[in-house]
Amino acid sequence: MSRAASLRQAAYLAVVIVVIGSMPLLLDAGFYIQIGATTGAFMVAVIGYNLVLGETGLLSLGHAAFFGVGAYTFSVLRTEDVPTLLAVVGAIGLPVLLAFFIGVITLRVRHLYFAIATFSIAEIIRNVIREWDGVTGGVLGMSVPRLEIFDRSFSGASGAYPLILATIVVALFAHAYVSSSALGRRARAVRDDELGAEAMGVPVLRTSISMFMIGAVFAAAAGCLYALTLTFIDPSVLHYHESILLIAMLIVGGAGSLAGAVIGAVVISLAPELLRFIEHWWEIVFGVIIMLAILSGRRGIVGFAGDLYQRVRQLRRHTTAESGLSLAEVSERSFTPRGEEHELVVSGVRKSFGGVQALDGVDVTFHPGEIHALIGPNGSGKSTLVNVITGIYGPDEGAVMLGQTALQGRRPDEIARAGVARTFQHTRTFEELTVLDHVLPMVESTGLQGVQARDEALSLLAATGLEGTADLAVGRLPHAHLRLMEIARALALQPRVLLLDEPAAGLSGEESELLGRIIRQLERDRLAVVVIEHNMPFVLGLAESVTVLGEGSVIARGRPDEIVNDPVVQEAYLGAEDSGAAGDPVDTTDNRSEQ
Ligand code: ADP
Ligand code: MG
Repeated sequence: MSRAASLRQAAYLAVVIVVIGSMPLLLDAGFYIQIGATTGAFMVAVIGYNLVLGETGLLSLGHAAFFGVGAYTFSVLRTEDVPTLLAVVGAIGLPVLLAFFIGVITLRVRHLYFAIATFSIAEIIRNVIREWDGVTGGVLGMSVPRLEIFDRSFSGASGAYPLILATIVVALFAHAYVSSSALGRRARAVRDDELGAEAMGVPVLRTSISMFMIGAVFAAAAGCLYALTLTFIDPSVLHYHESILLIAMLIVGGAGSLAGAVIGAVVISLAPELLRFIEHWWEIVFGVIIMLAILSGRRGIVGFAGDLYQRVRQLRRHTTAESGLSLAEVSERSFTPRGEEHELVVSGVRKSFGGVQALDGVDVTFHPGEIHALIGPNGSGKSTLVNVITGIYGPDEGAVMLGQTALQGRRPDEIARAGVARTFQHTRTFEELTVLDHVLPMVESTGLQGVQARDEALSLLAATGLEGTADLAVGRLPHAHLRLMEIARALALQPRVLLLDEPAAGLSGEESELLGRIIRQLERDRLAVVVIEHNMPFVLGLAESVTVLGEGSVIARGRPDEIVNDPVVQEAYLGAEDSGAAGDPVDTTDNRSEQ
């Protein structure tokens, strides 16, 4: 979503929430004020949690810790007569600091380990608060000092209520701002394909920690509001039940969507109150709701409503615009690389996987302004070489130098930003994002922003035959479009070296021709282009120099005409094709790695 669309959505939600949310206050309905206040406090936390789970894909099982630490810090500081503003700063600052440290320690191990680590750390914090009774009141809890500003009380549900509504509005706009920022786009790329994002220059760890810390700000603010509302807190505010509740709210409403966060908070808070008559059966109903939400994917009520809407629309239109989409002609433009011109020199690279020696001492140099074909039978180590150059795997031995810069040992995102971009043998896309969202984060990593970044991204699409596809979801694109979109995305980094792993696989003759024209333009723009390809007429017609790999070693190198006549190559490679694999662009090796 663009910045404007994001802010507009936040504004709509804000209006609805303020209008409906003010009702209990205007009607002075005590019971509903109480429910509204706690629902509102949770809503602020869930909106923030959506940035963590929904937008970055980080399942934190201990998010209530930030909520609880915020509530306790605020209460303790206020008890010590610290001025309100300072108490708020402390109550938000401490959880954010905590999030930073937890992030640095645990986000290196993502996914399941991250979830378990956050769960454990939250439990440790809860126990510390419980045992530290001199300050926190221990298991018995502590009362929260009253907050009065200009003789107006902000304590208790009705006192805190306007403050909660105001905070929700701020939270909605803050979410819209972060989500539509460069950071938000990088986060969604990480969520949908961590490795692909990393190879495209996205610093995964830094992006994840930033989003995690921002999520903690929301949770801490929510904790302060919750403390004010209840005027009393005990260690149960950071019990893992509360973390699970946050997750349930988001999943039921629809993770990844701001409306989903809001709806989830309302449904999960109100349902037990409205269904009070079914008594303890509620717990079972709750379980069923969560199961349904999980089965429906991460998209919850909002996703379900969206699907329904799409279906109705399609029934009316009978057809989707995407089917039968064909590539546009490529527009003329240059792809000038950033920085100085350098050769990429691979020397003595070895890499083994268990018993398999995938690369056995490979030396090869890629020159600027040259198309270099890297060929060899299936399993000869071509993809592994690309993976080693781009930092997906570290080499067991050997060096990869871009000019004077050693690339081995660096992270994929660093290598990408240093000027070495790539595509993958098996297309890697950020599932749920549009074509533009695939290209924009990479354009932004070169320093362009706002309208300029958008224009550059659109120009890259036009130059790769993808004019008019910017707002389509990649899930609905034909194969050839995906292939070219990956090239556009790699070119957004303004690379010196571009490594294309079987770019023409699955392309028609016409589409390959278009690909060939783009590659020739890159050659004119002085990029070093490396093309791995099984389609010999295509790649040998394109390249000036050829390197042939066989079982992890270079078995021949030279001009295309020398290579086709080389008996060693015919034996190892072309001979293999005669015996059945001729012209088959599909990699038939056991591809344990998806790269
Ligand atoms: P190519 O791209 O030339 O077809 P690859 O580089 O994919 O070949 O594979 C070279 C060899 O290394 C193959 O035997 C393959 O099975 C093995 N290999 C590649 N990646 C991995 C991995 N991640 N784990 C184990 N073996 C791998
Ligand atoms: Mg391969």
